[in-house]
Amino acid sequence: MTGMHVDPAFYQERIAPFLPPRVLDFHAHVWRKSDWHAVPWKSGARGGTYMVADEDYPVERLSEDGRRCFPDREYRAVCFGYPTPSADNEKDTKYAAYAGATHGMYPLMIVGSPLGVPADVIRQRLEAGRFLGFKVYLPWHGDDYGRTTIQEMLGPNEMDIAQDLGLVVLLHVPRTGRLADPEVQEGVRWLSEGWPGAKIVLAHCGRCYMPSEMERAIGSLRDLSNVYLDSSMVMDETVLRMVFDGIESSRVLFATDFPVAAMVGRRVRVADHWVDVVTSDAPASAFRVRAEGISATYMAQEIALAVVTAGRAAGLREERIRQVFFENGMSVLRSVRNGSAVKRVEEAWRA
Ligand SMILES: [Zn+2]
Repeated sequence: MTGMHVDPAFYQERIAPFLPPRVLDFHAHVWRKSDWHAVPWKSGARGGTYMVADEDYPVERLSEDGRRCFPDREYRAVCFGYPTPSADNEKDTKYAAYAGATHGMYPLMIVGSPLGVPADVIRQRLEAGRFLGFKVYLPWHGDDYGRTTIQEMLGPNEMDIAQDLGLVVLLHVPRTGRLADPEVQEGVRWLSEGWPGAKIVLAHCGRCYMPSEMERAIGSLRDLSNVYLDSSMVMDETVLRMVFDGIESSRVLFATDFPVAAMVGRRVRVADHWVDVVTSDAPASAFRVRAEGISATYMAQEIALAVVTAGRAAGLREERIRQVFFENGMSVLRSVRNGSAVKRVEEAWRA
């Protein structure tokens, strides 16, 4: 994604004035094809072509995309590997740990019941990789979730450790109904109340990219104070307005989902599904429309603009909006092992 169509004035005028000096992206990937069993979108697996992306996305590329999208700010990211059966979990975990030694990176490790990794091995990998918590494994490809429940994705084997150490647990919720599905809401409550010391972060605002979904979802989180929402790939101002009206803004964490959000374009609602409208240099994928001759910017910037616009519409003070981009996420990270985990990561950053 070359970004040759992007006019820097849009960022400078519309977004930069509302950002803090450092931007923390709470959801970003790093991966290498050499750590995969198969390339998801070439494997023929059901759901495999749902989100076609770069086959190699090393941490250097992530840092570059962060710098490109937020050129006058320091970019930091919570990063993790490839969370589906396509990846070799052990190799992927090692690479995420390596990525975490790069300046600005806070690594999570991918765990989940279907991986069958014993608790003592999880603890040992956490230590060795200086991980700040878990990104929950997705035992499916793309949108082929079937009837998976949260209770099948992880359990006491993982969550008792998260409770003990106060870890981040970043969860991409399953099922077509997303966080609007009562079954999913039940699962989130089970995690939140069962392990109140864990910090549960729901990726993509619980995958509610559209207002009709968020409208039925946000109320379920109101009293779950250890549940947070990451904004990755959410570009709908009404969705984010509902979030800010429904829960404390301190529970909202800016996030991109790089490499996906490094595309130039915007996710929009068409009838009852989202569609990514992108410039013509993006690879073909499901729910992706490649358009010629449109002026557009990086999706990461569109997410930032939607957060700012929704926050202002909801009447948040500018300081509260700024905190969504750094402080809110940092205070979650600083609560892991009472701050010692963040310190350990930052001390290990290569100069
Ligand atoms: Zn992601």
